[in-house]
Amino acid sequence: MARIVDIRELTVPLDGAVANAVVSFSSHTVSLVALVSDVVRGGRPVVGLAFNSIGRFGQGGILRERMVPRVLAAAPEDLLDAATGAPDPARVLQAALRNEKPGGHGDRAGAAAAIELAAWDLRAKLAGEPAHVTIARAFGRPVATRPLEVYTGGGYYHAPGSGHTLTSELQGLRDLGFRSFKMKIGGAPLAEDLRRVEEALAVAGGGAHLMVDANGRFDRDTALAYARALAPYRLRWYEEPGDPLDYALQAELAGVYGGALATGENLFSAVDALNLARFGGMRPGLDIFQMDPGLSYGLTEYARMLAQLEARGFSRAQAVPHGGHLVNLHIVAGLGLGACEAYPGVFRPFGGFSPACRIADAAIFPSDAPGFGLEEKPELAPWIERLLG
Ligand code: MG
Repeated sequence: MARIVDIRELTVPLDGAVANAVVSFSSHTVSLVALVSDVVRGGRPVVGLAFNSIGRFGQGGILRERMVPRVLAAAPEDLLDAATGAPDPARVLQAALRNEKPGGHGDRAGAAAAIELAAWDLRAKLAGEPAHVTIARAFGRPVATRPLEVYTGGGYYHAPGSGHTLTSELQGLRDLGFRSFKMKIGGAPLAEDLRRVEEALAVAGGGAHLMVDANGRFDRDTALAYARALAPYRLRWYEEPGDPLDYALQAELAGVYGGALATGENLFSAVDALNLARFGGMRPGLDIFQMDPGLSYGLTEYARMLAQLEARGFSRAQAVPHGGHLVNLHIVAGLGLGACEAYPGVFRPFGGFSPACRIADAAIFPSDAPGFGLEEKPELAPWIERLLG
């Protein structure tokens, strides 16, 4: 039986002076969390590692003041999964959330996710297998054997004279083996964005390989104007046109835009995702759900979201989590989701995968490293060493 004897957090700055239509990522941070177990192998304790995804902020305060003391105060047997002998991620999550009221899913959802996901890493390492295998078994899924489709986030606004253009950025990604690309919109007037879409299409080779992301920036009129203007390009999807919580606008757009819409990365709970399915006009077999386990209480809650979606006629192929890092790669593989996002070269040290996860023909497969394999990521390894002392 493995016990959690220590929980550590390190707030790590994100490297990457890139911006979307709404925020610059240069001030963003991430909480790297370690669950230290009492199991010692090779002279070192087995440690579960994870983080609260990317694109937001570290949650060291919430973790240190509320969640870490609760988990450490729980009786070890209350955290244990008797079947595996490892701490049960769902029980660890429950302990982390003791005395928290329902609703109001904000930053704490990411804090709790970092702990919960670290419990999955620990469980996989104790079993000596990659996390996607542990995840597949836990949720009754077949273990993935084939490479997963991967597409890139990015398509940023590059300042004149920066040495980069949209074309050069996407060509660089294509040279790395990617074939589908997402690009930012909403940071320029519509006519300029349409010119950028056409520039990107010249690299992508067709609308089926290009997505656009407004990052929730548009008001109703602008979202509708873009929908009408984008429709002829037959893009793979049109992402987060309006406020992430404006389900009525989402439903209105679904009524006028024939292509796929994507949203959900800023929904942090199962009930928020359920409301999107109920009221957002999401269409089975077409629209894309982008909830991110690392921002929304972890994999336990994410699996609840999937179950709710499937019960309402949606397919897990429509689930494409926001993120673009090793944790979500294993989750996509383990749960058999639609595709995996990638952020090569940005959001370091968390974005992107490890060299052992080879990308070829727009597909990727996790390495054989135990757990999420975060230790295999060269730019992350020094931060892990620092966290573990
Ligand atoms: Mg997005």
